[in-house]
Amino acid sequence: MKSAVLTALRKIEIKDMPLPEPGTGEVRLKVAAVGVCGSDVHYHEEGRIGSQVVKFPQVLGHEPSGVVDAVGAGVKLKPGDRVAVEPANHCGKCVYCQRGRQNLCLEMKFLGTPPIDGIFSQYRVMPEHCCFPISDSMSLTEASLLEPLGVGFHAVNLAKVGLGDTVAVFGSGPIGLVTLLAAKAAGAAKVFMTDLIPERLTFALKTGADYVMNPSDGDVVEWILDNTGGLGVDVTVDAAGKQETLDHCCLCSRRGGKAVIVGIPSVDRLLLPLHEVRRRELEMHNARRSNGEMKACIELVASGRINVKPLATHFFPLEKISDAFSLVHNYADGVIRAIIQPNGEL
Ligand SMILES: [Zn+2]
Ligand SMILES: [Zn+2]
Repeated sequence: MKSAVLTALRKIEIKDMPLPEPGTGEVRLKVAAVGVCGSDVHYHEEGRIGSQVVKFPQVLGHEPSGVVDAVGAGVKLKPGDRVAVEPANHCGKCVYCQRGRQNLCLEMKFLGTPPIDGIFSQYRVMPEHCCFPISDSMSLTEASLLEPLGVGFHAVNLAKVGLGDTVAVFGSGPIGLVTLLAAKAAGAAKVFMTDLIPERLTFALKTGADYVMNPSDGDVVEWILDNTGGLGVDVTVDAAGKQETLDHCCLCSRRGGKAVIVGIPSVDRLLLPLHEVRRRELEMHNARRSNGEMKACIELVASGRINVKPLATHFFPLEKISDAFSLVHNYADGVIRAIIQPNGEL
């Protein structure tokens, strides 16, 4: 089988690898669709996210769907089953797993996060508990968008976004957009979104944002205060990981409001406007990936409550994966999610 292997910074090579065999409790997936995530781009461009450093060679990719191809002993799934995949394989035993914080597991094996190889491959063995069957009405492309949707839901769940809440999401890339979808599904009344790329604002409006603004066109804080009776919003979300978006999270929030940091910064430290934060008693949350949101995401997409389909804007065969990375890195051609199809369209 073929795998896309990161062999050096900004260098992905297509290599022949042995077909992996599923062990007890495992399935082998024929990989259908894998999104190229901003975090993949961080590893590709910078070789690390904070203290998580790539040791080459490394296979990236953690937003997959697939078709069960072979099963090991004790597995209920059958060859031919179409599945969404939870890339987080938690241990179930450590102190955090026991407390329901599986995303903070001490023994976490997360696809495509060093030193665990990801799934930009034609086949990959996964534990059965990471594979969630999907209905015939859901496409494998939609299934590959459930993992990022789960990240949006996790942010919304941490802030307990509820009926009638006002929400501002700073950054209208894929994670900003899934946060918008999740916030609306949770009952948010008004969602404000910003981005520096005009196409992304158009996309955000189409996806359901109520107000959009390009920060190069004016003062974001004033804009939000003007549209919330001078109070600020109930919940702010940083979906970009930049100093400016973090500032907006703090300054656009109402007193006693909540801010959730979801974006991954390229730098190790950012500054907080502490007096603004303190005077508001701003409740700050940091979101790491998602925690058990997959089932809800499957139901909401299968029932038509949430439409993730438009987020998949570009499709590439495995051989063209470097083109997909440069497209995403350069925010080119209106890309939201670029999807790799290692076995063509399944
Ligand atoms: Zn991701
Ligand atoms: Zn654990």
